[in-house]
Amino acid sequence: MSVLRPSVAPHHKALQAPPLTTALGVTAGDATEVTSRVLAVPDCGTAVPGSEPLRLMAVHAHPDDESSKGAATMARYVREGVAVLVCTLTGGERGTILNPAMEQPGIRENLAAVRREEMAAAREILGVQQRFLGFLDSGLPEGDPPPPLPAGCFALEPLERAARPLVQAVREFRPHVILTYDENGGYPHPDHVKCHEVSVEAFEAAADPDRYPDAGEPWQPLKLYYHLSFHRDRMLALHEAMLSRGLQSPYADRIARAQSAAESGERQPLAVTTRVPCAEYFEIRDRALLAHATQVDPQGGWFRVPMEVQRAAWPSEDYHLARSVVDSELPEDDLFAGVREKVSL
Ligand SMILES: [Zn+2]
Repeated sequence: MSVLRPSVAPHHKALQAPPLTTALGVTAGDATEVTSRVLAVPDCGTAVPGSEPLRLMAVHAHPDDESSKGAATMARYVREGVAVLVCTLTGGERGTILNPAMEQPGIRENLAAVRREEMAAAREILGVQQRFLGFLDSGLPEGDPPPPLPAGCFALEPLERAARPLVQAVREFRPHVILTYDENGGYPHPDHVKCHEVSVEAFEAAADPDRYPDAGEPWQPLKLYYHLSFHRDRMLALHEAMLSRGLQSPYADRIARAQSAAESGERQPLAVTTRVPCAEYFEIRDRALLAHATQVDPQGGWFRVPMEVQRAAWPSEDYHLARSVVDSELPEDDLFAGVREKVSL
């Protein structure tokens, strides 16, 4: 294919949500019936015999991030025949144990190995391919002032060295679409910020034969998205849905914080350009997340909103289209909008 130059998607005003009908023709709010046929993972990433399979790459900082950001989207695309590869930049070696039930002898000392096993289980549940890119977790510096980052960690790697394995993975896997975090990393963990930087670098450099010349044959990814997992409209919808059912909402504080950050001009939220309907895959997402047993408390905040409420109030996972070299009309309900046409040519 010809090499196209990436362009920055224009800034969009707040967008009206597209209608939420899934690719299976099920209106998301009714999507409580799930058949094993629909949820079975196909043998290979071939949607239509004879056509090139679509490929999606998700770049994440730590094992467990793939299950908390975009997991239902990946579960859906895999089951529709898209090849999905998760690239996990670090081994999560410096993570803390966030589930009291996992505070057991042998876990903390072997956290790196335990997290690899957890990742293997989550990968199976989601049905995705996954590879570790071999960097060392930087840890989340806590304290005032925060301590310096540990020598040799991912966040301290110079950009070219930090991006090289990802450029190589992009040139090997040849994704049409890449998912990553925004400039702030979604939340301010140094590995998440660095994940954003290496993803943008790889998106821009992978097609250029003069850059990273010994890292494989050039490949031009077509779209780059940022996850918008916890934006205000979604939290507000879930909050109101909980209150209207007489349930306690876990979101009041977060909504107030998001509101004051927006009002102070501290951070302007990115526009939601793309809502991927995936309500019938929320259960798979939760199972994958629970497979990261050291990282999530089954009694904790993640699971406070009943599935029925989530499906009814906000049946999508949402994204900001950051770069694109294909045309697509915004708002979108498909990460491959504008790509399908190009790939089938
Ligand atoms: Zn993380």
